[in-house]
Amino acid sequence: MQKEYLKSIPSVNDILAEKLAEKIKNDYSRSDLIEGIRAVTEKIRGEILADDFNEDNFESSRLSAESILFEVDKYLKNIYQPKMTAAINATGVIIHTNLGRSILSKKAVEAVQEVAEHYSTLEIDRESGERGHRYQALQDSIKKLTGAEAAVVVNNNAGAVTIALAALAAGREVVISRGELVEIGGSFRVPEVMEQSGADLVEVGATNKVYLKDYINAYNENTGAFLKVHTSNYRIMGFTEMVDAAELTEFAHKKDIPVIEDLGSGILFDLQEYGLSYEPTVKECIKDDIDIVTFSGDKLLGGPQAGIIVGKKKYIDQIEYHPLMRALRVDKFTIAALEATLKQYRDFEKAIKEIPTLKMLTEDESEVKHRAEKLLNLLKKSKFYKLEITKDTAKVGGGAYPLIDINTFVLKIDPDQISAEEFAYNLRQQDVPVFSRISEGSVILDMKTIQEKEIDQLAEILNDNFWRKENE
Ligand SMILES: *Cc1c(COP(=O)(O)O)cnc(C)c1O
Repeated sequence: MQKEYLKSIPSVNDILAEKLAEKIKNDYSRSDLIEGIRAVTEKIRGEILADDFNEDNFESSRLSAESILFEVDKYLKNIYQPKMTAAINATGVIIHTNLGRSILSKKAVEAVQEVAEHYSTLEIDRESGERGHRYQALQDSIKKLTGAEAAVVVNNNAGAVTIALAALAAGREVVISRGELVEIGGSFRVPEVMEQSGADLVEVGATNKVYLKDYINAYNENTGAFLKVHTSNYRIMGFTEMVDAAELTEFAHKKDIPVIEDLGSGILFDLQEYGLSYEPTVKECIKDDIDIVTFSGDKLLGGPQAGIIVGKKKYIDQIEYHPLMRALRVDKFTIAALEATLKQYRDFEKAIKEIPTLKMLTEDESEVKHRAEKLLNLLKKSKFYKLEITKDTAKVGGGAYPLIDINTFVLKIDPDQISAEEFAYNLRQQDVPVFSRISEGSVILDMKTIQEKEIDQLAEILNDNFWRKENE
């Protein structure tokens, strides 16, 4: 009997004659197609020849050329499907590090596309036609927006802190408050970064309290810098004491020592009038006479991944010409996206409408409600699912504003035949995966982080899932 089955496996040529084979060949290549056919038929052969082969469990329809090609398609998809794809963020976490943090504004995307498709003036001087300066345009706009004397950009903020310490304090002591020895996202621990930079860590104060006199007592002739880390991802509440930046810089400058501040997710403009709590802006740090301020490009700024370093020219020069700079330098796509994003900041009222991260942070909740209603209207009714729009709270994420809840509207889905976990799992397995959250047994799609242009697609995905259940 097994022999009969083996004989029924179509030949490679017969399989190639099928219409679906043509399509697979176009999607991949002829040799991929043949490799796929060999792999699938080999697998079927193995099953038939297995000791525990049981005719009753074997579907002979699997031996048709067409059905083999379906398996070939799946096999090749599994190998070649890009593993990183666009995703729909329905988690309500605006700066979601695992989902790529900030999404770019339309203008930034266009700028990236331009330099991707064409040669660019990345590092050439138009006047002379000779080699030019990679960061010139960026530096000018960052200086204008922050009031800093000078600026430079590296790959990310972790790199910015590392190179700043390496350039200004390698082989010397860097004084930091114990309350600021933070870990960010599991892979960035301030003490470890300091060690890598070659600076020696000197901890002062207690976790909840540090005084100016602690810094003064720690100072000696081998002190290379004072480091402040903005503990944006947690707060010590209650009985606390922090040193005023202006006081620290005053003392440091008497000793001709730089103060470096790692601001984390730096903001350029105060967002208090939009209901967010106070966070120091980059401009304020510069006003406080901090010598070097570093912050991320893809957190609250809403641009591409980057580490932006601003401050006094004499220190920025040391950083810019440090050998690590070459290893940490940004590529043309980052420069294009950052330049375009920063340009949008010149008109802040427009920026909060056009830069997605800022828009989500500041938009009126009626806009979120509108997106929720639009989605609900597109959904088919199904007796297997209860759908409801409710008020909820979203999060800023990215280690910023840890205590803030942002008002939002969510679509709450209660499946009654499968668990919320199973439904959420299905959503993650789509071609464009959807990431939701689960709360008290319901699937929550948070409209805060769902983009207007994703609603049609999301409705299609949901309808498909509701429909599938009814037909099972
Ligand atoms: C996020 C963060 C970093 C790391 O920044 P990346 O851009 O992810 O490298 C460093 N310090 C602070 C305070 C942060 O919040």
